[in-house]
Amino acid sequence: MVCHYGTDLKEMVEKVKRYTKDGQVANYIPALSKANPDDVGVAIFDGNDTCFSEGNHRHLFTLQSISKVLTLALALMDHGEDVVFSKVGMEPTGDPFNSIAKLESHVPSKPLNPMINAGALAVSSLIKGDTNEEKLERLLHFVRELSGNKQINFNQEVATSEFKTADLNRSLAYFMKQHGVISGDVDVLLDFYTKQCAIEVNCEDLAKIGYALAHHGEHPDKNYSIIPYEIARLVKTFMVTCGMYNASGEFAIRVGIPAKSGVSGGIVGAVPGGVGIGLYGPALDDKGNSIAGMKLLELLSAKYHLSIF
Ligand code: GLN
Repeated sequence: MVCHYGTDLKEMVEKVKRYTKDGQVANYIPALSKANPDDVGVAIFDGNDTCFSEGNHRHLFTLQSISKVLTLALALMDHGEDVVFSKVGMEPTGDPFNSIAKLESHVPSKPLNPMINAGALAVSSLIKGDTNEEKLERLLHFVRELSGNKQINFNQEVATSEFKTADLNRSLAYFMKQHGVISGDVDVLLDFYTKQCAIEVNCEDLAKIGYALAHHGEHPDKNYSIIPYEIARLVKTFMVTCGMYNASGEFAIRVGIPAKSGVSGGIVGAVPGGVGIGLYGPALDDKGNSIAGMKLLELLSAKYHLSIF
């Protein structure tokens, strides 16, 4: 099929813009409330030199929960499956991303999967490095490699804003510390976690990260694999089962692309063996997913037969 991403994307962005009115920008992290709810951006990377992009695709936004995919890959590369999955499970929850409920009701008290906040905090605590600076530098290096963008860094204002207000995440961490899932100082972990969530990208960076995941960690301009095949497979599977939180089931039916969203309004999509997709639309639905971004993915999936099912 001949793809006319360029012209199609323009039309699609126009079409989904009206959905932004039904959503709201995240405000529980005060710095995120500054985003413009009308923004919609998209980029698609097919492995060639250019990205097909449209709308507010150059706008910088923070990864938020999209970072969970990257820390999971890095933790698996650092320790292997046995260690990582002794701390976090492999099952979707059907609960909101920041829910504490299953930590108490589920025995043993380990988070159900690495895509919810509790699971991501447990995974972040495993990243190797003597200090948070060292850990963050390793994570940034990884993100820069995957995106091919050496400029990528984290946004201190967003990180500080989340750190000051992250009492729910703190309580998840304290709960897990009590139950031996994590050890060490909770605020040191929160400092790393909020910085990982504040790593800043644009749609094109995200599309390239998606492409790398889609191609088992291989990049077209690199002759080595950034993520081992098996880890890329595992991470993409989590994106299908848990990537859109408690909307993952409906998303699999309507879109069928391994994807991960964040409350900044970003979504990364990785079509196995195909394109990488980066989306931005800070107006969120009630589950914390970009309302226009999800709609755009639905249109793209239908038009280019991108569903893996
Ligand atoms: N940093 C955010 C938090 O922990 C990430 C959540 C998200 O993107 N869903 O609440």
